[in-house]
Amino acid sequence: MIIELERGRQATLDQIRDLAVRFGNRVELSEGTGVYDTVHIIGDSREFASRESYILGLPGVRAAWQPTGGYKNIARVVRGNEGKALHRERRVVEVKGLDGKARRFGGGNGKHIFVCGPDSPQTLEQTLATARMAREVGEKFGILDRVMLRGGAFKPRTRPTDWRGLGMKGIAIMDAAREETGLPYVTEVMDHNLVEQIGAHADMLQIGTRNAQNFDLLESVGRFGKPVILKRGFGNEAEEWFYSAEYIANQGNLDIVLCERGMKTLYTKGGYCRNQPDLNACTHARKQTILPIIFDPSHVAGDHRIVAENLMAACGHLVDGSITETVHTEAWRREQLCDAGQALVMDQYSILVEAVLEYENHVAPKMKSILRMLGTD
Ligand code: PEP
Ligand code: MN
Repeated sequence: MIIELERGRQATLDQIRDLAVRFGNRVELSEGTGVYDTVHIIGDSREFASRESYILGLPGVRAAWQPTGGYKNIARVVRGNEGKALHRERRVVEVKGLDGKARRFGGGNGKHIFVCGPDSPQTLEQTLATARMAREVGEKFGILDRVMLRGGAFKPRTRPTDWRGLGMKGIAIMDAAREETGLPYVTEVMDHNLVEQIGAHADMLQIGTRNAQNFDLLESVGRFGKPVILKRGFGNEAEEWFYSAEYIANQGNLDIVLCERGMKTLYTKGGYCRNQPDLNACTHARKQTILPIIFDPSHVAGDHRIVAENLMAACGHLVDGSITETVHTEAWRREQLCDAGQALVMDQYSILVEAVLEYENHVAPKMKSILRMLGTD
């Protein structure tokens, strides 16, 4: 529900907020430029909306209306009947590190967030070595507050007999990497029963492509409330992806980072890529939703030799960040039990980070002017 409220009506705003909390909702305030501000009730607002006559009677309430379109919690523009529309600010999703720095995804600030690390933690040494190198990259380019770690301890695998990660032992390794480097980490959760257990450790949770429409899981991470990376299901339309995000948001959690990781194609073994990147979906997500959008060049590529160009291509679509699988040395590739072929060696990743920063500083501002001229930014 959307409420138009005269400016300066703090007491009414407090009453609306109290009612929202009672029904498990939150409020988002968009300050208007005219005489009124707009209050957006976040989450499943059906119960709240049943109190419409009470709300309309509160001092300073000019109007209350229902969004007519879908994904009302994450939409960039929320529309109602009679031409009503609420234009919202882009959301910044913050992930704080032990080093006291917040990694800030999105908000249109043009600052790419770099998530890197192993497909999965296998040994403490390997994970620490990669994490230390990630920290060095951050220090070298003065972007430590933009670097984060990744590592899946619970692995979805096509074959039941394949290695499926170290489970909570892997989480303990990621904890140790965070402890030593101060960098926060994201890790995948596959089961709604494990959200609290894994979420008690991780700084950010990842929903993988195979679980992108696991609605119990989406709702669990929504209730849990920590920031989430939501990969797009490899067979999902953009709209289905947004509705998956809406499942999380409907539980009151708007700290969602969308991630494009490629669609299934007619690829067969020996093909030229693992998944087809749908880069226009990144642009579409930026226009349709308030959420940050990042790109995963590793699962798109399937081969470390084509990771760099895929990430640079996504930069052209002004993504807010990337999540890239890395190994500390070429020698480690042989030891890796999952996604070995697509991992970028950290030294090469460092050069790629530099290229992205150059793009960000020199090319992206010009891209943005073109988009502004076209009225499509
Ligand atoms: C991963 O990040 O290692 C992973 C399994 O990703 P996806 O769900 O995109 O395949
Ligand atoms: Mn992987």
